[in-house]
Amino acid sequence: MELKNKSLFRQECFVGGEWIKSISGETIDVDNPATQSSIGNVPKCGSSETETAINAANDAFQDWKNKTAKERSIILKKWHDLILENIEDLAHIMTVEQGKPLAESKGEILMGTTYIEFYAEEAKRVYGDIIPDPLPDRRIVVIKQPVGVVGAITPWNFPSTMITRKCAPALGVGCPVVIKPASQTPFSALALAVLAEQAGFPKGVFNVITGSANEIGKELTENPIVKKISFTGSTEVGKILLKQSSSTVKKVSMELGGHAPFIVFDDANIDEAVTGAITSKFRNSGQTCICANRLFVHEKVYDEFLEKFVAEVAKIKVGNGLESSTSSGPLIDQFSLEKVQDHVNDAVNTGAKIAIGGDIHSLGGNFYKPTVLSHVTTKAKITYEETFGPVAPIYKFSSDEEVINLANDTPFGLASYFFARDIGRIWKVAEALEYGIVSVNTGLPTKAEIPFGGVKESGLGREGSRYGLDDYLEIKYISMAGI
Ligand code: ADP
Repeated sequence: MELKNKSLFRQECFVGGEWIKSISGETIDVDNPATQSSIGNVPKCGSSETETAINAANDAFQDWKNKTAKERSIILKKWHDLILENIEDLAHIMTVEQGKPLAESKGEILMGTTYIEFYAEEAKRVYGDIIPDPLPDRRIVVIKQPVGVVGAITPWNFPSTMITRKCAPALGVGCPVVIKPASQTPFSALALAVLAEQAGFPKGVFNVITGSANEIGKELTENPIVKKISFTGSTEVGKILLKQSSSTVKKVSMELGGHAPFIVFDDANIDEAVTGAITSKFRNSGQTCICANRLFVHEKVYDEFLEKFVAEVAKIKVGNGLESSTSSGPLIDQFSLEKVQDHVNDAVNTGAKIAIGGDIHSLGGNFYKPTVLSHVTTKAKITYEETFGPVAPIYKFSSDEEVINLANDTPFGLASYFFARDIGRIWKVAEALEYGIVSVNTGLPTKAEIPFGGVKESGLGREGSRYGLDDYLEIKYISMAGI
């Protein structure tokens, strides 16, 4: 890797303030999804190393929680500044292991730092309550305290932000963290650990452990010392972790799959809707849990939208993310590519037409052509399953009621989007959509100040904003008598 600061590329785990290998000496190879060549390896740790990390976090807990919020904030801000100082190298590491274009990697790291900045301040405002007591000699006092050791399991699609979004509020309120990054993208996590060590987090407060997802996940969820699990990933794995966490009744936050509807009403500004759809659908090659998965366009504006949308999709330049001209990178692996191709084939077999794309890119490997499917029917698999790839299926609708029913016809409920101008319609549709996030007239609703999260099978809890602190806090009621 061509890095200015070579120390950021670590091939060891960070546990209790030490850089360690796995007990067995085994490692996991990490490949560049653009070239499919190996870029290095990380320790293949299991339950034993995870237990060590949990114990180290627990040893650090009392001192960390007893620091003032301001003392913790100073360290968080130092971490924030170090990340920004090293943003070029961190972006390079991310693009090489994840595939997204350098500009997107930089954007993600920048976004990740906004969570640290936000929570370095917001964690100073963990207020309690004094509630009037019905008895004259008593007082009801409510305080909030850090929940304890946090296990954070993160995915490969946002290797940096998913860590800072969980760790900044946890660390800010006084919880130590044990992070298990995705095996496809561990180097971004380990680079964050290098900078966390430099920022001055005490030993054991910040731990990163790589290796067997099953073993590490089981230890994190079943070890009674861990008080909270925060997971971002598939609904399938989320359900396993929920079951495992029930054995010790842990607090859980789950950011799971999505199946976002993107609705264009007949009063929408079509050019803005096209721009929003490009951002929402093709960012990270369609590999985000809030990507538009089903585009519903009103019959009166269907042809205009389709024509303008396809013209913009044609401009997307697919390639290796390290090349400055690239606007869309590869998919993460062959399995993802096969799923995308299967969804396209199935849609075509059930009546859809390929407006652009529709097969593997001439670059080969994990590259897929940005694809638009028109005339998609509700028989297609893509109507019900998350694709996680650069495929935009477009459906025609004729009434508000019809499209709201179509949009809600899914077990998922993370993000939804719609474009319209009529204020009455905007309120009614926003209230009717069964989603944690409703994005009106924009394709990019994410930022540190918002409560990100889903309803239905898309998850539990919220990340970002002041609500995101609650996920790492317990409420304690103190009954004061004899006054
Ligand atoms: P994706 O489909 O995006 O790869 P996953 O849910 O499979 O999503 O992965 C998200 C994170 O969960 C990754 O860090 C992965 O290693 C981890 N993971 C996968 N299976 C398990 C499991 N059984 N227990 C704990 N973590 C797991």
